[in-house]
Amino acid sequence: MAAFGTEFTDKMVINHYADGQWSGLAVVPVEPFNLHPATHVLHYASECFEGLKAYRTESGDIHLFRPDRHVARLLRSAAQLLLPVPDEATLLASLHKAVAEVSDQIPAYPGSLYLRPTLFGTEEDIGAAARPTQKAIYYVLTSPVGDYFAGGLKPLRVKVDDQAQRSTPNFGEVKTGGNYAAAMRQVVRAREEMGADQVLFAPGGIVQETGAANFVLIENGELLTKPLDGSILPGVTRDSILTLAAAAGLTVMERDFDVAELLERAPRGEAALTGTAAVLTPVGELVYNGETIQVGDGDMGPWSSKLREQLCAIQSGTAEDPHGWRVAL
Ligand code: PMP
Repeated sequence: MAAFGTEFTDKMVINHYADGQWSGLAVVPVEPFNLHPATHVLHYASECFEGLKAYRTESGDIHLFRPDRHVARLLRSAAQLLLPVPDEATLLASLHKAVAEVSDQIPAYPGSLYLRPTLFGTEEDIGAAARPTQKAIYYVLTSPVGDYFAGGLKPLRVKVDDQAQRSTPNFGEVKTGGNYAAAMRQVVRAREEMGADQVLFAPGGIVQETGAANFVLIENGELLTKPLDGSILPGVTRDSILTLAAAAGLTVMERDFDVAELLERAPRGEAALTGTAAVLTPVGELVYNGETIQVGDGDMGPWSSKLREQLCAIQSGTAEDPHGWRVAL
């Protein structure tokens, strides 16, 4: 299977906004857009997106994982970017339609169909830095993905950076390209300089999240993670893991914690990244100021294994779904 995000199905759902209204959902071939050089998004980054998955279970049933949460987040991102956006029902319908159109191209579990709903400003106006776009395109691109962990689950080496920012205090919760652009050079630098897989951003010493996943620390019966205060992405996987952790008997603490607390507790505990692509991926090593700190014994710990297995069982359809996270096609 091709690298994550490089292979696409042949059809997508699209919706155009102009003259104050949306055209309605249509199905079109996946083809390049024809954009004027003055297109708003190319100059003012007027765009946001989502990432979620549809799964095919052993019995052949297809479901989306928590599409309502992703739609809610897209609505919020669009509002903060002053982008026109289809209403909630249309967005939900677009996800179902995008999957239904390519239902024969969904790999069986542990593969899945990754959905990338995207919204961007198309007004042709380079004087529009302070004017929201009056034209937009919304589309749902889909990508068949294999087992992200086909090579086995290898604990990550994560650089803890208390200087760099991936976003700003109020904009970190917006799923927009600019936040990824800001984080990218930090991640590349950490990879080149210390062989790190990811950067854990902790500006001012307060632990936030990595460039594309939320972060949790598990130690002494407690799962600790930063609260949703606008500076980090409200991850759907984060929310799912917190729910499963509480049910499994961990005390879930959403509060700010600093690098000193992280480095003091991590050697006795577990740490992990959570996200749609990563599900729950263990952190084996933290690197801070050039020093490597091993997390627990460096391997995936018992709580991480348990929570990951529980979430995977719900996603694959092999376990009950007490929270109603699976939404049938
Ligand atoms: N934080 C960031 C910055 C991300 O890009 C992602 C991936 N969408 C996440 C957290 C995890 O979010 P989710 O669990 O909804 O995929």
